[in-house]
Amino acid sequence: MSTKFDVIVIGGGPAGYVCAIRAAQNGLRVACIDAWQNRDGSRVFGGTCLNAGCIPSKALLESSELYHRVGHEFASHGISVKSATLDLAKMQGRKAKIVQQLSGGIAQLFKANGVTGLFGHGHLLTGNKVRYTPPEGAPELLEAEHVVLATGSTPVELPGAKFNGTTIVDSWGALDFDAVPRRLGVIGAGVIGLELGSVWRRLGAEVTLLEAMDRFLFMADGQVARDAERQFKKLGLDIRLGARVQSATAGESGVTVSYEDGNGRHEIEVDRLVVAVGRRPCTGGLLDPLAGVTLDKRGYIEVDDECRTAAPNVWAVGDVVRGPMLAHKGSEEGVMVADLIAGRHGEMNYAVIPSVIYTAPEIAWVGLTEEQLKEQRRPYKAGTFNFAASGRAKAMEQAAGLVKVLADAETDRILGVHIVGPFAGELIGEAVLAMEFEASAEDLQRTIHGHPTLTEAVHEAALAVDGRALHAVNR
Ligand code: FAD
Ligand code: NAD
Repeated sequence: MSTKFDVIVIGGGPAGYVCAIRAAQNGLRVACIDAWQNRDGSRVFGGTCLNAGCIPSKALLESSELYHRVGHEFASHGISVKSATLDLAKMQGRKAKIVQQLSGGIAQLFKANGVTGLFGHGHLLTGNKVRYTPPEGAPELLEAEHVVLATGSTPVELPGAKFNGTTIVDSWGALDFDAVPRRLGVIGAGVIGLELGSVWRRLGAEVTLLEAMDRFLFMADGQVARDAERQFKKLGLDIRLGARVQSATAGESGVTVSYEDGNGRHEIEVDRLVVAVGRRPCTGGLLDPLAGVTLDKRGYIEVDDECRTAAPNVWAVGDVVRGPMLAHKGSEEGVMVADLIAGRHGEMNYAVIPSVIYTAPEIAWVGLTEEQLKEQRRPYKAGTFNFAASGRAKAMEQAAGLVKVLADAETDRILGVHIVGPFAGELIGEAVLAMEFEASAEDLQRTIHGHPTLTEAVHEAALAVDGRALHAVNR
């Protein structure tokens, strides 16, 4: 193997592997080093996203939603099913197969694009040298013109609720349960808490979410968050806000969780506990102190708007740098950096990154929330449309939720779109494109949407911005 490359990428998650592929497409000699190891000892590319995040969670969300709908929705279509039975091992097997196929796909893409994929650990030395330690054998010294750091993130552990791998687990552990817990506790009603809480609730667990903040889904638009909270409560998720967890003690019969809220101290007993209180950047063992890369107060690698670190020709992308911890954000940063290295144009529009929570109802948004606009004292117009008036949503038996479009009061430019309801994550794509092209609400109003589709709800919400919705009473 050559030890000299144009680009060495450390980390093979969605930020790193995408960067490596694009750099190779740009004609550069590229190596990508990745330390991921599955619990069965196998080594694969794809990082958290493919192996323990986005993909396995979406596989289980899909399966568990189907199971739930058989029991709760089919009858309203006139379909009676005696009783659905759950084969969790098969459900988990399906998930594992999808993950395996996709991570194997990255190895094939590396091969097809001429990327040298290396399993093992990377350590940045001075002068753009990298010490590569393979799983077996002696470390090797590699050199590159450019190094891209893409080492991702790991779950935050609470001092009072340490992971034990069986009854107190992180999100990876919660994706791999081999039985449905009777009582499941989740610390943190953020994205992971809601997605994984929904999976196990639909499969039959009693789920209690303990959330430190007083406001549910504080990062989402308030109206959308309130609507979603109502729907989650209907599903039977017991969401307790303003609940600060003090400790969790594992015993023989499960876990005792102590928390405090406005009404004092409380204790709950659960069989299993998932701790989902955020993730932190992963830089342990990555940097020689003399390499010149700096970290900020929270441990993220410091970068400029184009993902350059403080060290010449060293870049960093994905969860290990500031910004939302989302796979598509990391991938786009990877593409930008690979293009900039090759002397091409590259840029990231950080103001237009979609967020999607894959629960039922699904929640998705892009741009500013109504609360942020008020805080900025920016004059705006708002239009909402309820899925209750959408023919397609009704036909799908999924007519709860709404679309909200926020536009500048003077220029009409779209500033934010917020959706809670069926296929919100797919519908938001239109809003992302509209905002990327700096469209106005009128542009969406004058765009023809197929009938009957869920996209008509986006159209109607845009019309409602000017009080001109056709299938709702305008206020
Ligand atoms: P990672 O995916 O974490 O990859 C980093 C890689 O670098 C890992 O393979 C790691 O082993 C390797 N590495 C670390 N240190 C070294 C080293 N020194 N040498 C070599 N290799 C190293 N995001 C979404 O956008 N959509 C979702 O639906 C979604 N669902 C999620 C569900 C869950 C349960 C979780 C936990 C996360 C989810 N995320 C989702 C977040 C998403 O997984 C991350 O934003 C994304 O994986 C970040 O990509 P990355 O490449 O920066 O890091
Ligand atoms: P998060 O930041 O979304 O939620 C963590 C929640 O835990 C917050 O609401 C926080 O207030 C709460 N919390 C923190 N400390 C607490 C305590 N001591 N007691 C009670 N509550 C406490 O983080 P996450 O859900 O762990 O997810 C991590 C990252 O992974 C997120 O940044 C997210 O973007 C990403 N992710 C994305 C998706 C998706 O895009 N669909 C899915 C899963 C994860």
